Amino acid sequence: MTILGIDLGTTNSACAIWRDGKSELIPNRFGDFLTPSVVGLDDNGELLVGKFAKQRLLSHPHLCASVFKRYMGTDNQQTLGKKNFTSPELSALVLKSLKQDAETLLGETVIEAVISVPAYFNDVQRKATRLAGELAGLKVERLINEPTAAAMAYGLHEKPEGSRFMVVDLGGGTFDVSIMEYFSGVLEVHASAGDNFLGGEDFLEALVQWYLELTGIDKNALNRVQVQQLYSTLEQAKRKLSSVEEVKLDLILPQQKEPISLRRDTFNQRVQSLLSRIQLPVERALNDADISPTDLDDVVLVGGATRMQIFRSMIARMFRRMPAANLDPDLVVAMGAGIQAGLKAKDAALDDIVLTDVCPYTLGTGIHNENDPGGKQGTLFLPIIERNSVVPVSIVKTLYTVTDNQSRVLVDIYQGESRLTRNNVKLGELEVKVPKNKAGAESIDVRYSYDMNGLLEVDIKVNSTGEVFNTMIKNNAGNLSESDIAKTREKLATLKFHPREDEVNRALLHRAERMFESALGEKREHLSHLLQHFESVLEGQNQHEIKLAQKRFDEMLDELEGEHWF
Ligand code: AMP
Repeated sequence: MTILGIDLGTTNSACAIWRDGKSELIPNRFGDFLTPSVVGLDDNGELLVGKFAKQRLLSHPHLCASVFKRYMGTDNQQTLGKKNFTSPELSALVLKSLKQDAETLLGETVIEAVISVPAYFNDVQRKATRLAGELAGLKVERLINEPTAAAMAYGLHEKPEGSRFMVVDLGGGTFDVSIMEYFSGVLEVHASAGDNFLGGEDFLEALVQWYLELTGIDKNALNRVQVQQLYSTLEQAKRKLSSVEEVKLDLILPQQKEPISLRRDTFNQRVQSLLSRIQLPVERALNDADISPTDLDDVVLVGGATRMQIFRSMIARMFRRMPAANLDPDLVVAMGAGIQAGLKAKDAALDDIVLTDVCPYTLGTGIHNENDPGGKQGTLFLPIIERNSVVPVSIVKTLYTVTDNQSRVLVDIYQGESRLTRNNVKLGELEVKVPKNKAGAESIDVRYSYDMNGLLEVDIKVNSTGEVFNTMIKNNAGNLSESDIAKTREKLATLKFHPREDEVNRALLHRAERMFESALGEKREHLSHLLQHFESVLEGQNQHEIKLAQKRFDEMLDELEGEHWF
Protein backbone atom coordinates (compact mmCIF):
# COMPACT_ATOMS: atom_id res chain seq x y z
CA MET A 1 0.00 0.00 0.00
CA THR A 2 1.59 3.27 -1.12
CA ILE A 3 1.85 6.11 1.36
CA LEU A 4 2.00 9.56 -0.16
CA GLY A 5 4.53 12.02 1.28
CA ILE A 6 3.07 15.50 0.87
CA ASP A 7 4.53 18.98 1.21
CA LEU A 8 1.40 21.09 1.66
CA GLY A 9 2.93 24.50 1.03
CA THR A 10 1.63 28.05 1.26
CA THR A 11 2.27 28.80 -2.42
CA ASN A 12 3.04 25.39 -3.89
CA SER A 13 2.50 21.78 -2.90
CA ALA A 14 4.31 18.66 -4.03
CA CYS A 15 4.35 14.96 -3.27
CA ALA A 16 6.60 11.94 -3.37
CA ILE A 17 6.43 8.21 -2.69
CA TRP A 18 8.98 5.68 -1.56
CA ARG A 19 9.71 3.32 -4.45
CA ASP A 20 12.62 1.05 -5.31
CA GLY A 21 14.55 2.13 -2.26
CA LYS A 22 14.29 5.86 -2.83
CA SER A 23 12.01 8.85 -2.58
CA GLU A 24 10.44 9.57 -5.94
CA LEU A 25 8.64 12.80 -6.77
CA ILE A 26 5.21 12.44 -8.34
CA PRO A 27 4.33 14.84 -11.16
CA ASN A 28 0.80 16.22 -11.38
CA ARG A 29 -1.42 15.88 -14.44
CA PHE A 30 0.50 18.63 -16.21
CA GLY A 31 3.77 16.83 -15.65
CA ASP A 32 4.87 19.43 -13.04
CA PHE A 33 6.23 18.51 -9.65
CA LEU A 34 4.86 21.69 -8.13
CA THR A 35 1.13 22.28 -7.83
CA PRO A 36 0.20 25.83 -6.82
CA SER A 37 -1.82 25.75 -3.59
CA VAL A 38 -4.63 27.74 -5.15
CA VAL A 39 -8.23 26.71 -5.75
CA GLY A 40 -10.82 28.46 -7.87
CA LEU A 41 -14.04 28.14 -9.80
CA ASP A 42 -14.30 28.38 -13.57
CA ASP A 43 -17.11 30.04 -15.52
CA ASN A 44 -19.29 26.94 -15.09
CA GLY A 45 -18.77 26.86 -11.35
CA GLU A 46 -16.46 23.88 -11.68
CA LEU A 47 -13.48 23.49 -9.45
CA LEU A 48 -9.94 24.29 -10.60
CA VAL A 49 -6.93 23.38 -8.50
CA GLY A 50 -3.30 24.37 -9.09
CA LYS A 51 -1.91 26.05 -12.17
CA PHE A 52 -5.23 27.14 -13.63
CA ALA A 53 -6.61 28.39 -10.38
CA LYS A 54 -3.41 30.43 -9.98
CA GLN A 55 -3.87 32.02 -13.39
CA ARG A 56 -7.50 32.73 -12.61
CA LEU A 57 -6.52 34.41 -9.37
CA LEU A 58 -5.26 37.36 -11.42
CA SER A 59 -8.44 37.86 -13.42
CA HIS A 60 -11.11 36.57 -11.00
CA PRO A 61 -9.81 36.94 -7.44
CA HIS A 62 -13.34 36.61 -5.97
CA LEU A 63 -13.64 33.12 -7.46
CA CYS A 64 -10.30 31.91 -6.10
CA ALA A 65 -8.68 31.20 -2.76
CA SER A 66 -4.95 31.16 -1.98
CA VAL A 67 -2.42 31.33 0.88
CA PHE A 68 -4.93 29.56 3.10
CA LYS A 69 -2.16 27.76 4.95
CA ARG A 70 -1.56 31.03 6.79
CA TYR A 71 -4.98 30.71 8.39
CA MET A 72 -4.76 27.06 9.34
CA GLY A 73 -6.12 26.57 12.83
CA THR A 74 -8.27 29.71 12.83
CA ASP A 75 -11.92 30.27 12.00
CA ASN A 76 -11.00 32.39 9.01
CA GLN A 77 -12.95 31.55 5.87
CA GLN A 78 -12.45 32.41 2.22
CA THR A 79 -15.25 32.72 -0.27
CA LEU A 80 -15.36 30.74 -3.48
CA GLY A 81 -18.30 32.00 -5.50
CA LYS A 82 -21.24 31.87 -3.08
CA LYS A 83 -19.88 29.50 -0.44
CA ASN A 84 -17.43 30.00 2.40
CA PHE A 85 -14.61 27.58 3.06
CA THR A 86 -12.21 27.14 5.96
CA SER A 87 -8.49 26.55 5.51
CA PRO A 88 -8.71 22.80 6.13
CA GLU A 89 -11.47 22.59 3.53
CA LEU A 90 -9.48 24.50 0.93
CA SER A 91 -6.35 22.53 1.75
CA ALA A 92 -8.40 19.35 1.38
CA LEU A 93 -9.17 20.35 -2.20
CA VAL A 94 -5.45 20.70 -2.94
CA LEU A 95 -4.71 17.39 -1.23
CA LYS A 96 -7.49 15.70 -3.14
CA SER A 97 -6.07 16.95 -6.39
CA LEU A 98 -2.58 15.69 -5.49
CA LYS A 99 -4.08 12.36 -4.45
CA GLN A 100 -6.00 12.00 -7.70
CA ASP A 101 -2.99 12.86 -9.82
CA ALA A 102 -0.84 10.38 -7.92
CA GLU A 103 -3.50 7.70 -8.27
CA THR A 104 -3.71 8.24 -12.03
CA LEU A 105 0.03 7.95 -12.34
CA LEU A 106 0.41 4.97 -10.03
CA GLY A 107 -2.70 3.16 -11.19
CA GLU A 108 -3.78 2.43 -7.63
CA THR A 109 -5.81 4.01 -4.87
CA VAL A 110 -3.83 5.97 -2.31
CA ILE A 111 -5.34 6.25 1.14
CA GLU A 112 -2.45 7.00 3.46
CA ALA A 113 -0.27 10.08 3.69
CA VAL A 114 2.51 11.80 5.59
CA ILE A 115 2.04 15.58 5.47
CA SER A 116 4.64 18.21 6.32
CA VAL A 117 3.93 21.24 8.54
CA PRO A 118 6.10 24.18 9.64
CA ALA A 119 8.05 23.37 12.80
CA TYR A 120 6.36 26.27 14.58
CA PHE A 121 2.81 24.99 13.92
CA ASN A 122 1.02 24.57 17.23
CA ASP A 123 -1.32 21.78 18.19
CA VAL A 124 -4.40 23.48 16.77
CA GLN A 125 -2.72 24.04 13.41
CA ARG A 126 -1.52 20.46 13.32
CA LYS A 127 -5.02 19.19 14.05
CA ALA A 128 -6.36 21.40 11.27
CA THR A 129 -3.80 19.90 8.86
CA ARG A 130 -4.80 16.38 9.82
CA LEU A 131 -8.40 17.34 9.30
CA ALA A 132 -7.58 18.61 5.80
CA GLY A 133 -6.10 15.19 5.03
CA GLU A 134 -9.15 13.39 6.34
CA LEU A 135 -11.47 15.60 4.35
CA ALA A 136 -9.50 14.68 1.26
CA GLY A 137 -10.06 11.01 2.03
CA LEU A 138 -6.53 10.43 3.29
CA LYS A 139 -5.54 8.67 6.47
CA VAL A 140 -2.83 10.96 7.81
CA GLU A 141 -0.25 8.52 9.09
CA ARG A 142 1.76 11.30 10.60
CA LEU A 143 2.80 14.89 10.29
CA ILE A 144 6.46 15.76 9.76
CA ASN A 145 8.14 19.09 10.47
CA GLU A 146 9.27 20.79 7.26
CA PRO A 147 12.90 21.31 8.36
CA THR A 148 12.99 17.67 9.46
CA ALA A 149 11.77 16.58 6.04
CA ALA A 150 14.39 18.76 4.33
CA ALA A 151 17.12 17.35 6.57
CA MET A 152 16.01 13.81 5.77
CA ALA A 153 16.10 14.49 2.04
CA TYR A 154 19.79 15.20 2.56
CA GLY A 155 20.20 11.99 4.56
CA LEU A 156 21.10 13.86 7.73
CA HIS A 157 19.17 11.33 9.82
CA GLU A 158 21.83 8.82 8.84
CA LYS A 159 24.65 10.97 10.23
CA PRO A 160 26.37 10.17 13.52
CA GLU A 161 24.55 10.76 16.80
CA GLY A 162 24.67 14.29 18.03
CA SER A 163 24.94 15.84 14.55
CA ARG A 164 23.60 19.35 14.37
CA PHE A 165 22.45 21.26 11.35
CA MET A 166 20.62 24.31 10.26
CA VAL A 167 17.80 24.41 7.74
CA VAL A 168 17.43 27.78 6.02
CA ASP A 169 14.18 28.30 4.14
CA LEU A 170 13.78 31.41 1.97
CA GLY A 171 10.49 31.25 0.08
CA GLY A 172 8.55 33.86 -1.87
CA GLY A 173 7.47 35.86 1.16
CA THR A 174 8.94 34.33 4.31
CA PHE A 175 12.24 33.36 5.81
CA ASP A 176 12.60 30.55 8.35
CA VAL A 177 15.63 29.18 10.12
CA SER A 178 15.64 26.00 12.21
CA ILE A 179 18.44 24.41 14.13
CA MET A 180 18.11 20.67 14.48
CA GLU A 181 19.87 17.95 16.35
CA TYR A 182 19.84 14.22 15.69
CA PHE A 183 20.13 11.70 18.50
CA SER A 184 18.82 8.12 19.01
CA GLY A 185 16.42 8.13 16.12
CA VAL A 186 14.97 11.50 16.99
CA LEU A 187 15.31 14.73 15.04
CA GLU A 188 14.72 17.63 17.32
CA VAL A 189 14.08 21.21 16.33
CA HIS A 190 16.21 23.12 18.83
CA ALA A 191 15.42 26.64 17.86
CA SER A 192 13.61 28.42 15.13
CA ALA A 193 13.53 32.02 14.07
CA GLY A 194 12.36 33.90 11.05
CA ASP A 195 11.22 37.03 9.30
CA ASN A 196 7.74 36.83 7.91
CA PHE A 197 8.15 39.90 5.78
CA LEU A 198 11.22 38.76 3.88
CA GLY A 199 11.36 36.56 0.80
CA GLY A 200 12.17 36.31 -2.89
CA GLU A 201 9.46 38.86 -3.68
CA ASP A 202 11.40 41.55 -1.83
CA PHE A 203 14.42 40.89 -4.01
CA LEU A 204 12.20 41.28 -7.04
CA GLU A 205 10.84 44.54 -5.66
CA ALA A 206 14.42 45.81 -5.30
CA LEU A 207 15.01 45.05 -8.99
CA VAL A 208 11.82 46.86 -10.00
CA GLN A 209 13.00 49.93 -8.08
CA TRP A 210 16.39 49.74 -9.79
CA TYR A 211 14.74 49.55 -13.21
CA LEU A 212 12.39 52.47 -12.55
CA GLU A 213 15.21 54.66 -11.26
CA LEU A 214 17.49 53.82 -14.16
CA THR A 215 14.90 54.44 -16.85
CA GLY A 216 13.16 57.34 -15.10
CA ILE A 217 9.81 55.66 -15.66
CA ASP A 218 7.01 56.50 -13.23
CA LYS A 219 5.33 53.33 -11.98
CA ASN A 220 2.05 55.17 -11.41
CA ALA A 221 1.89 55.96 -15.13
CA LEU A 222 1.90 52.27 -16.06
CA ASN A 223 -1.25 50.30 -16.76
CA ARG A 224 -1.99 46.91 -15.22
CA VAL A 225 -0.65 44.91 -18.17
CA GLN A 226 2.57 46.94 -18.23
CA VAL A 227 3.12 46.47 -14.52
CA GLN A 228 2.60 42.75 -14.96
CA GLN A 229 5.00 42.68 -17.90
CA LEU A 230 7.62 44.56 -15.90
CA TYR A 231 7.35 42.24 -12.91
CA SER A 232 7.36 39.04 -14.92
CA THR A 233 10.35 40.09 -17.06
CA LEU A 234 12.36 41.13 -14.02
CA GLU A 235 11.34 37.96 -12.20
CA GLN A 236 12.80 35.95 -15.07
CA ALA A 237 15.91 38.14 -15.06
CA LYS A 238 16.32 37.60 -11.33
CA ARG A 239 16.14 33.83 -11.77
CA LYS A 240 18.52 33.95 -14.71
CA LEU A 241 21.04 35.89 -12.64
CA SER A 242 21.32 32.84 -10.38
CA SER A 243 23.24 31.14 -13.19
CA VAL A 244 24.69 33.92 -15.41
CA GLU A 245 26.63 37.12 -14.68
CA GLU A 246 24.62 39.44 -16.88
CA VAL A 247 21.13 39.62 -18.36
CA LYS A 248 20.16 41.86 -21.29
CA LEU A 249 16.89 43.66 -20.92
CA ASP A 250 15.50 44.66 -24.28
CA LEU A 251 12.61 47.06 -24.31
CA ILE A 252 10.41 45.80 -21.50
CA LEU A 253 8.08 48.78 -21.72
CA PRO A 254 7.38 51.24 -24.56
CA GLN A 255 8.67 54.04 -22.28
CA GLN A 256 12.13 52.42 -22.07
CA LYS A 257 14.43 54.25 -24.49
CA GLU A 258 17.21 51.73 -25.03
CA PRO A 259 18.13 48.17 -24.14
CA ILE A 260 19.89 47.89 -20.78
CA SER A 261 21.84 45.20 -19.11
CA LEU A 262 21.61 43.99 -15.56
CA ARG A 263 24.77 42.69 -13.98
CA ARG A 264 24.86 40.40 -11.02
CA ASP A 265 26.98 42.83 -9.00
CA THR A 266 24.39 45.59 -9.57
CA PHE A 267 21.73 43.23 -8.27
CA ASN A 268 23.92 42.31 -5.31
CA GLN A 269 24.39 45.95 -4.41
CA ARG A 270 20.69 46.68 -4.59
CA VAL A 271 19.79 43.88 -2.18
CA GLN A 272 22.32 44.62 0.56
CA SER A 273 19.72 45.73 3.08
CA LEU A 274 17.67 42.58 2.47
CA LEU A 275 20.75 40.44 2.98
CA SER A 276 21.52 42.07 6.28
CA ARG A 277 18.01 41.21 7.41
CA ILE A 278 18.79 37.56 6.74
CA GLN A 279 21.55 37.59 9.31
CA LEU A 280 19.32 38.54 12.22
CA PRO A 281 17.14 35.43 12.47
CA VAL A 282 20.17 33.22 11.78
CA GLU A 283 21.99 34.79 14.71
CA ARG A 284 18.92 34.57 16.89
CA ALA A 285 18.45 30.87 16.19
CA LEU A 286 22.12 30.20 16.93
CA ASN A 287 21.83 32.14 20.17
CA ASP A 288 18.66 30.34 21.21
CA ALA A 289 20.27 26.98 20.54
CA ASP A 290 23.42 28.22 22.23
CA ILE A 291 25.81 27.08 19.50
CA SER A 292 28.26 28.73 17.16
CA PRO A 293 28.25 28.42 13.35
CA THR A 294 31.27 26.14 13.42
CA ASP A 295 29.41 23.62 15.60
CA LEU A 296 27.03 22.90 12.75
CA ASP A 297 27.59 19.76 10.71
CA ASP A 298 25.58 20.98 7.76
CA VAL A 299 23.49 23.82 6.42
CA VAL A 300 20.53 22.87 4.21
CA LEU A 301 18.83 25.21 1.76
CA VAL A 302 15.07 25.13 1.17
CA GLY A 303 12.84 27.45 -0.91
CA GLY A 304 13.23 28.82 -4.44
CA ALA A 305 14.92 32.06 -3.40
CA THR A 306 17.90 30.21 -1.90
CA ARG A 307 19.00 29.71 -5.52
CA MET A 308 20.30 33.27 -5.59
CA GLN A 309 24.09 33.23 -5.76
CA ILE A 310 24.44 36.16 -3.41
CA PHE A 311 22.36 34.34 -0.81
CA ARG A 312 24.45 31.20 -1.15
CA SER A 313 27.73 33.03 -0.85
CA MET A 314 26.51 34.89 2.19
CA ILE A 315 25.51 31.63 3.89
CA ALA A 316 28.85 30.10 2.89
CA ARG A 317 30.68 33.09 4.41
CA MET A 318 28.68 32.99 7.62
CA PHE A 319 29.23 29.27 8.15
CA ARG A 320 32.59 28.89 6.45
CA ARG A 321 31.29 26.01 4.38
CA MET A 322 29.19 25.52 1.26
CA PRO A 323 25.55 24.82 2.10
CA ALA A 324 24.00 21.52 1.05
CA ALA A 325 22.21 22.52 -2.11
CA ASN A 326 22.38 19.72 -4.63
CA LEU A 327 18.65 19.00 -4.38
CA ASP A 328 15.94 21.24 -5.80
CA PRO A 329 15.14 23.63 -2.93
CA ASP A 330 11.46 23.72 -3.92
CA LEU A 331 11.16 19.97 -3.68
CA VAL A 332 13.33 18.89 -0.75
CA VAL A 333 10.47 18.96 1.73
CA ALA A 334 8.32 16.71 -0.46
CA MET A 335 11.28 14.39 -0.98
CA GLY A 336 11.82 14.16 2.78
CA ALA A 337 8.12 13.47 3.29
CA GLY A 338 8.54 10.64 0.75
CA ILE A 339 11.38 9.19 2.83
CA GLN A 340 9.31 9.38 5.97
CA ALA A 341 6.49 7.62 4.08
CA GLY A 342 8.96 4.86 3.20
CA LEU A 343 10.10 4.50 6.79
CA LYS A 344 6.51 4.50 7.96
CA ALA A 345 5.63 1.69 5.58
CA LYS A 346 8.45 -0.33 7.14
CA ASP A 347 7.28 0.69 10.59
CA ALA A 348 10.58 2.40 11.19
CA ALA A 349 9.49 6.03 11.01
CA LEU A 350 11.81 8.56 12.48
CA ASP A 351 10.57 10.48 15.49
CA ASP A 352 10.41 14.15 15.19
CA ILE A 353 10.18 16.42 18.17
CA VAL A 354 7.70 19.13 17.72
CA LEU A 355 8.55 22.66 18.56
CA THR A 356 5.40 24.34 19.72
CA ASP A 357 6.79 26.74 22.22
CA VAL A 358 6.67 29.67 19.84
CA CYS A 359 3.77 31.88 18.91
CA PRO A 360 3.10 30.84 15.31
CA TYR A 361 1.68 34.13 14.00
CA THR A 362 2.08 37.79 14.61
CA LEU A 363 -0.61 39.13 16.93
CA GLY A 364 -1.47 42.79 16.86
CA THR A 365 -4.09 45.47 16.56
CA GLY A 366 -5.38 48.00 14.05
CA ILE A 367 -4.26 51.63 14.15
CA HIS A 368 -5.36 54.77 12.36
CA ASN A 369 -3.98 55.03 8.82
CA GLU A 370 -2.98 58.66 8.23
CA ASN A 371 -2.27 58.14 4.55
CA ASP A 372 -5.71 56.84 3.86
CA PRO A 373 -8.12 59.71 4.43
CA GLY A 374 -10.79 58.07 2.25
CA GLY A 375 -10.72 54.97 4.43
CA LYS A 376 -10.20 52.69 1.43
CA GLN A 377 -7.37 50.70 2.95
CA GLY A 378 -8.80 50.46 6.45
CA THR A 379 -6.61 50.37 9.52
CA LEU A 380 -2.91 49.55 9.59
CA PHE A 381 -1.71 46.49 11.43
CA LEU A 382 0.42 47.20 14.49
CA PRO A 383 2.26 44.01 15.46
CA ILE A 384 2.38 43.49 19.23
CA ILE A 385 3.67 39.93 19.58
CA GLU A 386 5.85 39.04 16.59
CA ARG A 387 5.60 35.64 15.02
CA ASN A 388 8.03 33.06 16.36
CA SER A 389 8.30 34.77 19.73
CA VAL A 390 9.11 32.18 22.36
CA VAL A 391 6.09 31.60 24.64
CA PRO A 392 4.93 32.45 27.21
CA VAL A 393 5.31 36.03 26.09
CA SER A 394 3.74 39.28 27.24
CA ILE A 395 4.21 42.59 25.45
CA VAL A 396 2.67 46.00 25.93
CA LYS A 397 2.22 48.84 23.43
CA THR A 398 0.81 52.29 24.05
CA LEU A 399 -1.87 53.74 21.78
CA TYR A 400 -3.15 57.32 21.69
CA THR A 401 -6.48 58.90 20.84
CA VAL A 402 -6.65 60.33 17.32
CA THR A 403 -9.51 62.84 17.47
CA ASP A 404 -10.45 65.63 19.84
CA ASN A 405 -13.00 64.65 22.49
CA GLN A 406 -12.76 60.99 21.56
CA SER A 407 -14.64 59.06 24.25
CA ARG A 408 -13.98 55.46 23.22
CA VAL A 409 -11.19 53.41 21.73
CA LEU A 410 -12.02 50.19 19.92
CA VAL A 411 -9.13 47.76 20.05
CA ASP A 412 -9.43 45.14 17.33
CA ILE A 413 -7.38 42.01 17.88
CA TYR A 414 -5.78 40.56 14.78
CA GLN A 415 -3.55 37.68 13.82
CA GLY A 416 -1.57 37.75 10.59
CA GLU A 417 1.33 39.17 8.69
CA SER A 418 -0.19 41.76 6.37
CA ARG A 419 0.43 45.50 6.70
CA LEU A 420 -3.32 46.09 6.40
CA THR A 421 -5.61 44.61 9.03
CA ARG A 422 -8.25 43.78 6.46
CA ASN A 423 -5.95 41.04 5.12
CA ASN A 424 -5.40 39.58 8.58
CA VAL A 425 -7.66 37.44 10.72
CA LYS A 426 -9.79 39.21 13.31
CA LEU A 427 -9.79 37.30 16.57
CA GLY A 428 -11.87 39.68 18.64
CA GLU A 429 -12.26 43.23 19.89
CA LEU A 430 -12.43 45.18 23.10
CA GLU A 431 -13.91 48.65 23.47
CA VAL A 432 -12.72 50.94 26.26
CA LYS A 433 -13.96 54.30 27.52
CA VAL A 434 -11.49 57.17 27.78
CA PRO A 435 -12.01 60.68 29.22
CA LYS A 436 -12.73 63.33 26.59
CA ASN A 437 -9.61 65.30 25.83
CA LYS A 438 -7.48 66.71 23.01
CA ALA A 439 -6.38 64.31 20.28
CA GLY A 440 -3.31 62.40 21.44
CA ALA A 441 -3.67 63.48 25.07
CA GLU A 442 -5.26 60.22 26.22
CA SER A 443 -3.43 56.94 26.00
CA ILE A 444 -4.07 53.27 26.67
CA ASP A 445 -1.60 50.47 27.33
CA VAL A 446 -2.52 47.36 25.36
CA ARG A 447 -0.92 44.21 26.70
CA TYR A 448 -0.98 40.92 24.80
CA SER A 449 0.01 37.75 26.66
CA TYR A 450 0.26 34.47 24.79
CA ASP A 451 0.77 31.15 26.57
CA MET A 452 1.75 27.55 25.78
CA ASN A 453 -1.88 26.52 25.19
CA GLY A 454 -2.42 29.08 22.46
CA LEU A 455 -4.44 31.32 24.75
CA LEU A 456 -4.22 35.03 24.06
CA GLU A 457 -5.08 37.38 26.87
CA VAL A 458 -5.58 41.06 26.10
CA ASP A 459 -5.42 43.61 28.95
CA ILE A 460 -6.01 47.27 28.38
CA LYS A 461 -5.28 50.01 30.88
CA VAL A 462 -6.53 53.56 30.42
CA ASN A 463 -3.53 55.48 31.65
CA SER A 464 -5.23 58.63 32.92
CA THR A 465 -7.87 56.79 35.00
CA GLY A 466 -6.09 53.51 35.72
CA GLU A 467 -9.22 51.61 34.63
CA VAL A 468 -8.48 48.09 33.33
CA PHE A 469 -10.31 45.99 30.71
CA ASN A 470 -9.64 42.39 29.78
CA THR A 471 -10.55 39.65 27.30
CA MET A 472 -9.37 36.11 26.54
CA ILE A 473 -9.17 34.49 23.11
CA LYS A 474 -8.72 30.80 22.41
CA ASN A 475 -7.96 29.21 19.07
CA ASN A 476 -10.14 26.18 18.74
CA ALA A 477 -10.57 25.25 15.10
CA GLY A 478 -9.92 21.73 13.88
CA ASN A 479 -11.87 19.68 16.41
CA LEU A 480 -14.69 18.32 14.30
CA SER A 481 -16.79 15.30 15.23
CA GLU A 482 -17.15 12.32 12.88
CA SER A 483 -20.53 13.54 11.69
CA ASP A 484 -19.18 17.07 11.12
CA ILE A 485 -16.41 15.57 9.01
CA ALA A 486 -18.90 13.56 6.99
CA LYS A 487 -20.98 16.69 6.42
CA THR A 488 -17.98 18.72 5.36
CA ARG A 489 -16.89 15.99 2.96
CA GLU A 490 -20.33 16.15 1.38
CA LYS A 491 -20.05 19.91 1.03
CA LEU A 492 -16.70 19.53 -0.75
CA ALA A 493 -18.08 16.76 -2.93
CA THR A 494 -20.69 19.15 -4.33
CA LEU A 495 -17.83 21.02 -5.99
CA LYS A 496 -17.30 19.29 -9.27
CA PHE A 497 -13.69 19.03 -10.40
CA HIS A 498 -13.15 20.52 -13.80
CA PRO A 499 -12.58 17.68 -16.34
CA ARG A 500 -8.88 16.92 -15.91
CA GLU A 501 -7.94 16.20 -19.53
CA ASP A 502 -9.42 19.44 -20.63
CA GLU A 503 -7.32 21.28 -18.07
CA VAL A 504 -4.09 20.09 -19.64
CA ASN A 505 -5.27 21.37 -23.01
CA ARG A 506 -6.26 24.68 -21.57
CA ALA A 507 -2.92 25.02 -19.83
CA LEU A 508 -1.12 24.51 -23.12
CA LEU A 509 -3.34 26.93 -25.00
CA HIS A 510 -2.93 29.49 -22.27
CA ARG A 511 0.83 29.15 -22.28
CA ALA A 512 0.95 29.57 -26.05
CA GLU A 513 -1.37 32.60 -25.90
CA ARG A 514 0.88 34.23 -23.32
CA MET A 515 3.96 33.56 -25.43
CA PHE A 516 2.12 34.96 -28.43
CA GLU A 517 1.36 38.17 -26.53
CA SER A 518 5.00 38.79 -25.77
CA ALA A 519 6.48 37.55 -29.07
CA LEU A 520 6.94 39.50 -32.29
CA GLY A 521 7.31 38.84 -36.02
CA GLU A 522 8.13 35.34 -37.18
CA LYS A 523 7.93 33.82 -33.75
CA ARG A 524 4.42 35.16 -33.45
CA GLU A 525 3.36 33.66 -36.76
CA HIS A 526 4.83 30.35 -35.80
CA LEU A 527 2.94 30.39 -32.53
CA SER A 528 -0.25 31.27 -34.30
CA HIS A 529 0.11 28.21 -36.59
CA LEU A 530 0.84 25.98 -33.64
CA LEU A 531 -2.20 27.26 -31.80
CA GLN A 532 -4.48 26.76 -34.76
CA HIS A 533 -3.21 23.27 -35.35
CA PHE A 534 -3.68 22.27 -31.73
CA GLU A 535 -7.18 23.69 -31.65
CA SER A 536 -8.11 21.72 -34.75
CA VAL A 537 -6.86 18.50 -33.13
CA LEU A 538 -8.97 19.28 -30.06
CA GLU A 539 -12.03 19.71 -32.23
CA GLY A 540 -11.46 16.21 -33.63
CA GLN A 541 -12.02 14.83 -30.08
CA ASN A 542 -9.82 11.83 -30.72
CA GLN A 543 -8.17 11.23 -27.34
CA HIS A 544 -5.19 9.37 -28.74
CA GLU A 545 -4.41 12.12 -31.23
CA ILE A 546 -4.95 14.76 -28.59
CA LYS A 547 -2.39 13.08 -26.33
CA LEU A 548 0.18 13.00 -29.15
CA ALA A 549 -0.52 16.60 -30.09
CA GLN A 550 -0.19 17.72 -26.46
CA LYS A 551 3.28 16.29 -26.25
CA ARG A 552 4.37 17.77 -29.56
CA PHE A 553 2.85 21.16 -28.79
CA ASP A 554 4.55 21.27 -25.40
CA GLU A 555 7.92 20.43 -26.91
CA MET A 556 7.54 23.07 -29.61
CA LEU A 557 6.71 25.68 -26.99
CA ASP A 558 9.75 24.67 -24.95
CA GLU A 559 11.91 25.03 -28.03
CA LEU A 560 10.49 28.42 -28.88
CA GLU A 561 10.90 29.65 -25.36
CA GLY A 562 14.50 28.55 -25.31
CA GLU A 563 15.33 30.32 -28.57
CA HIS A 564 15.43 33.86 -27.31
CA TRP A 565 15.96 35.40 -23.98
CA PHE A 566 13.63 38.39 -23.85
P1 AMP B 1 8.66 29.39 -5.74
O1 AMP B 1 9.35 28.38 -4.88
O2 AMP B 1 8.73 29.10 -7.20
O3 AMP B 1 7.31 29.80 -5.25
O4 AMP B 1 9.54 30.66 -5.56
C1 AMP B 1 9.80 31.20 -4.32
C2 AMP B 1 10.72 32.35 -4.53
O5 AMP B 1 11.94 31.82 -5.05
C3 AMP B 1 10.22 33.37 -5.51
O6 AMP B 1 10.39 34.65 -4.95
C4 AMP B 1 11.12 33.18 -6.70
O7 AMP B 1 11.42 34.40 -7.33
C5 AMP B 1 12.38 32.62 -6.09
N1 AMP B 1 13.15 31.83 -7.05
C6 AMP B 1 12.78 30.70 -7.69
N2 AMP B 1 13.74 30.29 -8.52
C7 AMP B 1 14.76 31.17 -8.43
C8 AMP B 1 16.06 31.30 -9.04
N3 AMP B 1 16.48 30.43 -9.94
N4 AMP B 1 16.83 32.35 -8.67
C9 AMP B 1 16.39 33.23 -7.76
N5 AMP B 1 15.21 33.18 -7.16
C10 AMP B 1 14.38 32.16 -7.48
